[in-house]
Amino acid sequence: MLEVEGVTTRYGELTAVDDVSLTVADGELFCLLGPSGCGKSTVLRTIAGFEEPASGDISIRGTDITGRPPHQRDCSIVFQDWALFPHKTALENVAFGLKMQGVDAAERRERAQEALDLVEVGSQAEAAPDELSGGQRQRVALARSLTVDPDLLLLDEPLSNLDRRLRESMQIELKDIQRRLETTMVYVTHDQNEAFTLADRLGVMNDGELVQVGDPGTVYDD
Ligand code: ADP
Ligand code: ADP
Repeated sequence: MLEVEGVTTRYGELTAVDDVSLTVADGELFCLLGPSGCGKSTVLRTIAGFEEPASGDISIRGTDITGRPPHQRDCSIVFQDWALFPHKTALENVAFGLKMQGVDAAERRERAQEALDLVEVGSQAEAAPDELSGGQRQRVALARSLTVDPDLLLLDEPLSNLDRRLRESMQIELKDIQRRLETTMVYVTHDQNEAFTLADRLGVMNDGELVQVGDPGTVYDD
């Protein structure tokens, strides 16, 4: 599904990602784990096309997408702040992603409502973001990224702003949704427990390098 081959990404003199290679299978949830500043976000941003790698190649479903602009990469990225448009309702926020894909208005509403139902905030469709709790806002943002049915969903610490209880329940829900929809995901976190809970496979980063890859059971847990 996703192949990252020998990718190096620099910010000026700083090598943030150093010769990283990884593959993610169709329907797999791959977690990138490592301390703050080790380059996890930069890997995601490079896959998404927001950073240009100095070297290396990225392909999705066998097509080399290196150099393509972000909207031509068949992937969708979710950042930790889950920004919603404040003046749009939950439903309109979710439908917006489909508008960008040229889906007509009636179908947009229908699919947006389905996605909200899926993450169990369907009854909040007409609410504005500031009428929702933090957890509900995150669900709306998740619905928005799921509804465009991306080949690949990239998640950058999506639950890090939640309190522990909500974070743990969202982890279980997210895993459940991922299994049901068979969405391929790359999930970035610095939280080891979260990575071990979610991952089908796990990559551990340190100082720009991918130092270990394996099943959660085989990756050294220290
Ligand atoms: P992580 O996601 O693991 O916290 P990042 O990919 O955000 O790591 O950052 C990796 C390194 O690159 C850090 O040293 C960070 O300060 C640096 N960095 C990240 N983004 C930029 C940027 N836009 N400009 C310059 N340096 C950056
Ligand atoms: P994360 O590591 O979770 O991505 P950061 O706070 O490191 O969060 O980064 C937030 C934003 O700031 C990102 O867009 C990142 O590219 C940018 N950034 C991070 N470090 C630097 C840096 N040293 N110089 C410039 N921009 C940076």
